[in-house]
Amino acid sequence: MFVYLDNSATTRPYAETVEAMNKVLTDDFGNPSSLHTLGIAAENHVKAARKSCAEAMGASENEFFFTSCGTESDNTAILGAAEAGRHYGKKIITTAVEHPAVLETVKKLENQGFKVEYIGVDSKCRLDMRQFKKAVTEDTILISVMALNNETGTVMPISEIAEFKDSFNRSHGTRILMHTDAVQAFGKIPMNVKGNLKGVDMISVSGHKIHGPKGIGGLYVKKGLHIPAYIIGGGQESNMRSGTENTVGIAGMGCAAKISHENFDNRTRKMRDARAALLQGIKAEVPEIMVNSPEDDTAGPSVLNVSFLGTRGEVLLHTLEQDGIFVSTGSACSSNKKGQSHVLGAMGLKPKEIEGAIRFSFSEFNTAEEMEYVTEKVKQAVTRFRRLGSFR
Ligand code: PLP
Repeated sequence: MFVYLDNSATTRPYAETVEAMNKVLTDDFGNPSSLHTLGIAAENHVKAARKSCAEAMGASENEFFFTSCGTESDNTAILGAAEAGRHYGKKIITTAVEHPAVLETVKKLENQGFKVEYIGVDSKCRLDMRQFKKAVTEDTILISVMALNNETGTVMPISEIAEFKDSFNRSHGTRILMHTDAVQAFGKIPMNVKGNLKGVDMISVSGHKIHGPKGIGGLYVKKGLHIPAYIIGGGQESNMRSGTENTVGIAGMGCAAKISHENFDNRTRKMRDARAALLQGIKAEVPEIMVNSPEDDTAGPSVLNVSFLGTRGEVLLHTLEQDGIFVSTGSACSSNKKGQSHVLGAMGLKPKEIEGAIRFSFSEFNTAEEMEYVTEKVKQAVTRFRRLGSFR
C-alpha cells in the first residue's frame, strides 16, 4: 500500500493542475507583458488564476499578488510592514511557533533595532492570549501570527487577534498592521477577508500545500494598504513583485485554489475523518503515547502530531517508509537540520518526547482503509522499537 501522510510538507498536484500547467508550458508560453496574442493568452491565464486565488479568500483581484513561494510572501509582508511603519514604532509581535520564514525575518529586523516579542503557547500549541494582549503597546507596528501551525495543526485565534488590534488602533490612534502566515490554513480552514479574517491586512499562501506546484505563492494585501515591494525591477504584479511572472506556476496554483475552494466542505470533511480515524486507532492500539495536537475545536483537519514515548521518530519514519507510509518527524524545513523542533519545545515537551514525535498530515485522498493499515504498521514499528531499542 502507498499512503502519503506528509501533506503539510507538500501535496500531490491535482491532475487538473498538471493539465493547466502543461497548457501554459506548451501552448500559451508567451510573456504576459508582450503585446501580441501569445502575450495576451498568457496574461489571461494570470488574470484567471488571480481571480481564483482571490475568490478562495473572499478578496478582490487587485488585492492578491503572486510571489515565488510562501516564504517570499512572509518576507515581503514583514519587511514591507516594518519599513512602512518604522516612523510609528519599533515593536513587532509574533509567536514562538512560527515557521522559519517568519522567525528568521523578524530576527533580521531585531538585528536592525526592532524589538520583537514572541508570544508563547500551551502544551497543545494554543496561543497565550493574555500575554498577547499585554504585549500590544503604542510602539507596536506589526503583529504576525500564523493561522494554522504546521507541526501540530493548531488553529490560531486570528479573528480575535485582528479584532483586538483594530480596537486598539481605534482607541490609541496607532497604525498596527496584522499579517498572518496562512500557508497551512489555505484550503484547510475557512478563510474570508470580509468574514473571519476581516481586520487582517496581509495574508501569505503557497501553491504546493493546496495540490498546486512548488515555487509559487501569493500575498493578499488589503485594499488601500501600501507596503514597499521586496523584489523590485520591471514592475510586474502592479509593482508589488517584479520579475517575469511564473505563468506555469500561477496557472497551476489558480487551478488548485479553484478546485480546493469549490470542494472545500467535502475535502476538509475527508481530512477530518482520516485524522479522527487514525487518532482513534493509535489511541486504542498503541500504549504510552502523547497526543501533541489539540483534540478540541482548536484542532484543524490536516495535522496529527503524536509522540511515541521511548522511540525515535526518525527511525519510525524510515520503518514506516518500508511499508509504503510517508510521514514526517516535524516540519520538513526543520527536520533537515540538526536540533529539535522549536514548536514542540515551545509547547514545553521534554527532549525525549520531542524525539519520539511523528507528524501525520492529511489530504482529501486519504481513506479509512489507509488509516487502519497505518495504525497496524505504527503499532508494529513502535512495539519492535520498544523491544529492541533500534532495529536499523
Ligand atoms: N509557512 C508555513 C507555516 C509553512 O508550513 C511553510 C512551508 O512548509 C512556509 C511558510 C513556506 O512556504 P514555501 O515552501 O512555499 O516557501
